[in-house]
Amino acid sequence: MDEILERRRRLVVNLLHAAGAATVAALWAFESSAGLITDLDRYAYPVLLLVLGVGFGVRWLRPRHRVMAELGAYGVFAGYFITAILSFLILQPDNRVYTVANTLQWMPVIYLAAFFFFPRRLAVMASWSVFALALLVPVAALLWGNLASWDGALISLLANAYVVHLLTLACLSLLALFGTRYEHVQRRARALESAVLTDPLTGVANRRGLERALESLNQTPGRLVGLILLDTDHFKAVNDRFGHIIGDEVLADLGQRLSARLRRGDILGRWGGEEFLLITPDTIQMTAMGIAERMRAIAREVPHPAVGTITVSAGVAVWMSGTPVQEALHRADMALYAAKAQGRNRVEAG
Ligand code: GH3
Ligand code: MG
Ligand code: MG
Repeated sequence: MDEILERRRRLVVNLLHAAGAATVAALWAFESSAGLITDLDRYAYPVLLLVLGVGFGVRWLRPRHRVMAELGAYGVFAGYFITAILSFLILQPDNRVYTVANTLQWMPVIYLAAFFFFPRRLAVMASWSVFALALLVPVAALLWGNLASWDGALISLLANAYVVHLLTLACLSLLALFGTRYEHVQRRARALESAVLTDPLTGVANRRGLERALESLNQTPGRLVGLILLDTDHFKAVNDRFGHIIGDEVLADLGQRLSARLRRGDILGRWGGEEFLLITPDTIQMTAMGIAERMRAIAREVPHPAVGTITVSAGVAVWMSGTPVQEALHRADMALYAAKAQGRNRVEAG
């Protein structure tokens, strides 16, 4: 999920990067031919294109330095806009309204870009800093004392632009805040869901988790699913001799050791008490029997320090999804009874 989002984010960043390069190139060409290009842009446009090109190269060839490249590109762009407003307002009286409007109208893209390039908190800080610096420009103009040369159109243009910037930034920051809240709630929901489906003693799925897995397999009918019931042998005697706490320890250890050796896609859970159910999707009877034998061997592999070797008996049945699972579970249960009846520590098919 997060990976898909990250891939999309990178795609948007790449698109922004390409759109930025195309826009700068187009502005450079248009303003040069129309005679509108300022002295600053004459040098700034090629520098910006170079920065975008280098950033693109770094992100393709050295993905590890991606964040640095993005930060660098962002800094250069933001710096360009600030310098541009500053130079237009203070240094250049000609073409003022066009150049000021042209610069200010692009600044929301700079704010927006921060939210694609950086983590939310950094994005909020970076975009508001750029806005604050941009706001300093009229203050600087005031200090430099040429405010008198500003006409009404320029002042109203600036006021409009800064209000739009402020609103854009406020919206972006609010969206970022909602995003953070949403992610927090989503993480909590996921943690709660996983807690509801997990057995706290053994760390494997609980009965609800197993039932959920069976339901989900039932969505695609016709699959052969191995159902392996594993029951700890003479467990009552373990509790009677060593107490419930040691009994719990044995169960937890068994659950963890079995779950550590599962095939990909197989689901182990605690079916109840000292009994586990192993679900093996897309498995024929012979394979399921082999897996059950493996589990039986794993159970007795590591003796408990106090209790000694623990053995399990297993009953195996194959269920075809789309048919009633209760019937297959009953067959597995009958097979387990047979294994117990035939002396335990063995696997029987149902
Ligand atoms: P069998 O070989 O026939 O399975 O014998 P058994 O003693 O294992 O079977 P039985 O059904 O007679 O006893 C199961 C025991 O498992 C009784 C119960 O107290 C114990 N048990 C079930 N859940 C837990 C648990 O969470 N912790 C502990 N310590 N014991 C449990
Ligand atoms: Mg038992
Ligand atoms: Mg039992």
